[in-house]
Amino acid sequence: MDWTSFHRLSDIYSYLTYLADNFPDIVKLINIGWSYESRPLYVVRISSASSPDTMPAIWIDGGIHAREWITPAVATYAIQQLVEVAGNAELTTNLVWYIMPVMSPDGYEFTHTRNRLWRKSRSKAALFCRGVDHNRNFGYKWGGLGASRNPCAETFRGSAAFSEQETAAVSKFIQDKSTKIKLLLFKKFKVFISLHSYGQYIILPWAYKALYPPDYDEMLALAKNAALKFVRFKYSVGNTAELLYPSSGSSADWAKSIGIKYTYGVELGDTGTYGFVLPPSQILPICEDFFPALKVFADKAATMTR
Ligand SMILES: [Zn+2]
Repeated sequence: MDWTSFHRLSDIYSYLTYLADNFPDIVKLINIGWSYESRPLYVVRISSASSPDTMPAIWIDGGIHAREWITPAVATYAIQQLVEVAGNAELTTNLVWYIMPVMSPDGYEFTHTRNRLWRKSRSKAALFCRGVDHNRNFGYKWGGLGASRNPCAETFRGSAAFSEQETAAVSKFIQDKSTKIKLLLFKKFKVFISLHSYGQYIILPWAYKALYPPDYDEMLALAKNAALKFVRFKYSVGNTAELLYPSSGSSADWAKSIGIKYTYGVELGDTGTYGFVLPPSQILPICEDFFPALKVFADKAATMTR
């Protein structure tokens, strides 16, 4: 694995398998389900805690939109840093990381083989048009503003909330983890980050409408602290619907709605010079710039016991 080129899904999955085989004490590869075209959906669990199930957890996903190639790259870079860099060991002692580098593996492969700018899943909902926007398919305020009912649209919401195997698998995995732990009066996930590109924003709920959750100020303060860590690239912080546009059925809104306190979307670089089609020379600078910001979120999660 390297971060000087964009990789096919098989490279990414081989790297995850390599890590699970070679670092069995801290890395566990979890197959949470299957995509529409029968590709495995992998989540990597990283922790050096002796009883990870009682530890606070952070969720990070990449590749929810197929053409946003920088997001699986940043997710795998974070995995590499946490597992293979000894200096980062303390980040895995009081926190469990669940990282899903490619939420939409079918779409991701399609962008490599057929259409570089494909955004959606590859499921067949209509005769002529394929694909659902995974980030309009989650089950909170599904079907509202900024989500299309037209199967040919880029923002097609799907036939129902969680109609896609990929979003259904993710929500079930997160909810199962939270429910089991709830018996211990402990909500496992503290931070939820969905990676996107492009624009250089950290965006906060709600996305379905320009409204703030009651604890918005706390969420904003943490995001601003994280944004201070960016050196090469400057990130703006704010409410999703205000800073960008309303979008209902997003993963971050859903995560917030089930009680995960700190939920964000991160729009990685650049700001539009290359947009989705970044030159590979930009991968490492964006990854290196993001990791210190990610540590700010992780440090917060690790200190939350309830
Ligand atoms: Zn996106």
